[in-house]
Amino acid sequence: MEPTAHAERFADLIGKANVLTSPEDKAPYLTEWRDLYQGVTPMVLRPGTTEEVSAVMTYAYENDLKVVPQGGNTGLVGGQIPQESGDEIVLSLGRLNRIRTVDPAGFTLVAEAGVILDALHDAAEKADRLFPLSLGSQGSCQIGGNISSNAGGTAVLAYGNTRDLVLGLEVVLPSGEIWNGLRTLRKDNTGYDLKQLFIGAEGTLGIITAAALKLFPRPKKLEAAFVGLRDPQSVLRLFTLAKAQAGSLLTGFEILPRIGVEFCVRHLEGARDPLECEHAWYVLMELSSGSDAFNVRDLLESILSEGFEEGVVEDAAFAQNLSQVEDFWRIRHGMSEVQKQEGGSIKHDVSVPVALIPDFLDKAMAAVSALVPNCRPVPFGHIGDGNIHFNVSQPIGADKAEYLAGWDEMNAVVHGIVDDFGGSISAEHGIGRLKRDLLQEVKSDLEMDLMRRVKAAFDPKGLLNPGRIV
Ligand code: FAD
Ligand code: ZN
Repeated sequence: MEPTAHAERFADLIGKANVLTSPEDKAPYLTEWRDLYQGVTPMVLRPGTTEEVSAVMTYAYENDLKVVPQGGNTGLVGGQIPQESGDEIVLSLGRLNRIRTVDPAGFTLVAEAGVILDALHDAAEKADRLFPLSLGSQGSCQIGGNISSNAGGTAVLAYGNTRDLVLGLEVVLPSGEIWNGLRTLRKDNTGYDLKQLFIGAEGTLGIITAAALKLFPRPKKLEAAFVGLRDPQSVLRLFTLAKAQAGSLLTGFEILPRIGVEFCVRHLEGARDPLECEHAWYVLMELSSGSDAFNVRDLLESILSEGFEEGVVEDAAFAQNLSQVEDFWRIRHGMSEVQKQEGGSIKHDVSVPVALIPDFLDKAMAAVSALVPNCRPVPFGHIGDGNIHFNVSQPIGADKAEYLAGWDEMNAVVHGIVDDFGGSISAEHGIGRLKRDLLQEVKSDLEMDLMRRVKAAFDPKGLLNPGRIV
């Protein structure tokens, strides 16, 4: 059957206005943040309910049509972009954007997959609760995409990955069947925990249509400092001091190199260096408490003065109000954007055991500089989780395309060091299309085989997000 005939059938199921076939209408769904992929698709479908997703999938399954689920299209590994073969239909979850229930007493919320993360934060805040997941892309990414990619971000340190925030899921399977696993139970040991398979599956096993999520007390006291330090060893020492003293009140601990702050000052509107003098490394540190009774500022000052006495802290600026806290975070969250202004950037989203971060940084920075003289490493990120975004900007004046042609070669060097340290080649961004071939290199044959068997059990025809992960 011709694509137009399928489009007409889909229009019967979800309405003509929700079947996009013109190049202009499809365009926003076919490009992504990093410009690594340009997708091709016969159509974009925008169902508005779980039942409509089910109807679409039932028809697609019967007719052997490939489907790519897409949330906010902020994924960084190409999983949400249809392949150049042009035979994958995009299924956008954006119209499933209702908050179904909020239970402040039980600290839970049920949201549909297309709810934008910012909107989820607002819904929790209205109930005087916190949904902690925090990402630079939160203005456009959707909770369904967050769950499918098991997103990390800056709040993992205190609250865990997205996986830790999910209590239940509603999923449409490749066959079109609806699995209602939307439970809000805190304890449930009844057989295999199926929802875990869909979390981080990047849309290869089923389409998440709704999720039951954990809420937390909303911070009543929140304090932040922007700290200047000499080297990653000092950063690690400060982390140990902070974690030992503040425990779960330590809700942010992010590392930035000098060059990253320079990029922000240069390219991010209104951004300024929070400290007077230059420092080789910086930490954005945040403490917060759900209780009014606790003096968080005193604790922050005590940690930093201990760091100062030990000689690990060179200087620190304290946020005087919430707007200054936001200014600090704007620098951190602007890191991805500002690197775009500095030409080509080769990325690595890696993790190693926290205590090995300084060694890892030494080795990796030396290795990439030996490979591409004058390249500019911009390693930043969630040091408290052992997760570094080891991005390397091109040498000033170099040819961007020529530099990016060395992507795989640089990846191989950095990932080799990560492997030596017992680390991971994808700490939080997932596998998608970008790292699919790399995955086989780091997993055992048995692990790959088990993953393929899981895929085959849920999607025997291989129609949902084919070619991603396995
Ligand atoms: P999409 O990009 O649309 O999709 C991601 C994957 O999930 C695809 O494989 C897609 O097929 C699948 N998918 C989407 N929705 C569904 C669904 N409902 N059911 C089944 N499968 C689905 N990531 C982090 O982990 N930490 C960060 O700190 C972080 N910061 C970022 C900052 C910026 C500026 C940007 C652009 C991205 C960042 N990311 C980060 C990556 C990205 O934002 C997250 O991975 C996010 O969770 C993706 O959500 P999305 O709705 O955009 O999903
Ligand atoms: Zn990150």
